[in-house]
Amino acid sequence: MTNNIVIVFDFDKTIIDCDSDNWLIDELGFTDLFNQLLPTMPWNSVMDKMMMEFHSNGITIEEIEKVLQRIPIHHRIIPAIKSAHALGCDLRIVSDANMFYIETILKHLGISEYFTEINTNPGYVNQEGRVRISPYHDFNKASHGCNNVCPPNMCKGLIIDKIQNSIFEEDSKRFIYLGDGAGDYCPSLRLRERDFVMPRKNFPVWDLICKDPSLVKAEIHGWSDGEELEQVLMNLINKIMMEEHVQFISSDCKLQTLSSPVLVSLPKAVSVRP
Ligand SMILES: [Mg+2]
Ligand SMILES: [Zn+2]
Repeated sequence: MTNNIVIVFDFDKTIIDCDSDNWLIDELGFTDLFNQLLPTMPWNSVMDKMMMEFHSNGITIEEIEKVLQRIPIHHRIIPAIKSAHALGCDLRIVSDANMFYIETILKHLGISEYFTEINTNPGYVNQEGRVRISPYHDFNKASHGCNNVCPPNMCKGLIIDKIQNSIFEEDSKRFIYLGDGAGDYCPSLRLRERDFVMPRKNFPVWDLICKDPSLVKAEIHGWSDGEELEQVLMNLINKIMMEEHVQFISSDCKLQTLSSPVLVSLPKAVSVRP
């Protein structure tokens, strides 16, 4: 079963119920060091430095994985993802976390195979057994050039453009975008009239959208927690599938009305012939 719906999820505070960087740092007891470093360099660079600190303090990859595996997630999120996938939606992730965290967590939750694509900052374990994290856009070489509230290492709006351009028959696709952060505002602005944005209520993306909702072309549907996310998402999928079904029927009817004059004229043509 497939449909024409592409669902793009943010990861932190959308799929999982906290920020993965903060979770790891707090659980490993490095909050003070993190807070000291944060004013001195971009978040993404701080995280790579934190991984070096973990490594030099003897924290192993296994320990980091164990902490990531007990990250909080609302109990309705996995059923929502499984239902959307079963209905034929194309599920993708666009996240300012990193590949190492996301792959570790999705694999642990047993939901890796439901996603077509993960767009995030590169993250991998190097030969020394240290996690390396690098920016999605290498801002040391060139700025991504976006003037919205996007961090230097990632403009999710550009990623949405890339996804839209990469999809076959993109014009017939309907996007649903879910997120909570300020970085989710830029992709919300890229969506079209027939798309949907699901901002988390009273989170930064919600506040930005509420300042001037007319700037967002897509339909806006807020959610507060995993339960509401599931309800709103399922309603939207149903709504789109119903609309597409109605369109299918109406194009069928058009064919019938087009073909009936042909049928009517046929006997006349036959009767003229002899
Ligand atoms: Mg987020
Ligand atoms: Zn941007």
